[in-house]
Amino acid sequence: MCNLINEAHQHSLSRRGILNGAAALGAAALTSALTAPAAAAAALAAQNNAVTGKGRTRVVLLGTAGGPMTWLAPHNGPDRARHGIATALVVGDRYYLVDCGMGVAHQLRLAELGRDGDFAGFEGLNSIFLTHLHSDHTMDYFNVLLAGWYHGLPGPEPVQVYGPGRRGSLPPIHGSGEVDVINPSNPTPGTTDMTEYLIQAYATDLNDRMRDSRKPHIRNLLHANDIALPKDVLADANHDTAPEMDPFIVMEDDRVRVSATLVDHGAVFPAFAFRFDTDDGSVVFSGDTAPSQNLIKMAQDTDVLIHEVIDADWVNALYGEPPYTPEEEGFIQHLLHSHTTIEQVGPVAEAAGAKTLVLSHLAPGNNPRDRWMKAQNGYTGKLIIGEDLMEINVP
Ligand SMILES: [Zn+2]
Ligand SMILES: [Zn+2]
Repeated sequence: MCNLINEAHQHSLSRRGILNGAAALGAAALTSALTAPAAAAAALAAQNNAVTGKGRTRVVLLGTAGGPMTWLAPHNGPDRARHGIATALVVGDRYYLVDCGMGVAHQLRLAELGRDGDFAGFEGLNSIFLTHLHSDHTMDYFNVLLAGWYHGLPGPEPVQVYGPGRRGSLPPIHGSGEVDVINPSNPTPGTTDMTEYLIQAYATDLNDRMRDSRKPHIRNLLHANDIALPKDVLADANHDTAPEMDPFIVMEDDRVRVSATLVDHGAVFPAFAFRFDTDDGSVVFSGDTAPSQNLIKMAQDTDVLIHEVIDADWVNALYGEPPYTPEEEGFIQHLLHSHTTIEQVGPVAEAAGAKTLVLSHLAPGNNPRDRWMKAQNGYTGKLIIGEDLMEINVP
């Protein structure tokens, strides 16, 4: 990628130079430096950026709620809706989507990342990265593609989807007793399996639209990839889900290099954090994790760390005083051992040397802002409490 990145970097520098110079030189000078359509587009982009302050590379928080529940305004306070977890990293006219929680397709249209128009909106979507296969991160995954089929997809290339492969074995049962197994022949499907099952589940609709409405073949829309772990990583689904390891590269193109590492999300395996390096800076997505040394290692000196967070006081108050039923106990231990508390997240960001910490995947989604502000304890960088549709320029 280095050559491509360097070329892109030079290109972007020259383009930025042109854009920066545009105001001083005026439209006539700009037009002489570019062809007419390119000059018009550059002038429009410069005008838009001047108005909105939007950077070429930026994070768009599409949904910021932790867990499957969304929190709706006005019940959650005016303008305080929180949709399911989903984030876009925008680099120029292209964007990369991390997780697909409830409402992501709706939020993508509100974020206006694609072209405007009745049958537009998803054009810039390049690829989707799933941190893990908990439903609050995947609930609207197929909706993005089904809605995109009618609103801008497929682009020139299929959307590439990267996510965990099969777990390989069922997780242990918390407590005692038996639990029924869904789909015994493949009880822990990975990303490609899940995608294939979804295509099959929608076969009636897909065949109808491909035949009757002559929509392009659904397989031209997407291509799913299971992220393979490096061979020297000795991870084990039921004993060591996140052994100490170096980050590894999952994907790279002319705008981003995407690395991954295993993080500690209780029984979930594999669970990934991702790092995106661009010409303008870096962004790390924690996914769901307890405080993770692998994450801290991968996030060293990052410009923006987007980290999950949970309020332990809220968890401890969920069911009142003990004793708890086995179901309550199971849920409480999952929440406290698989996530990062308000008290823990600041020191994690500090250890990583992250310049900006953005809290997202907030549990509960209706917590008062004052509670989240306590994440500043132990962290000397800039703290941002994530809100739906908030945009953060990189760097
Ligand atoms: Zn989650
Ligand atoms: Zn999770």
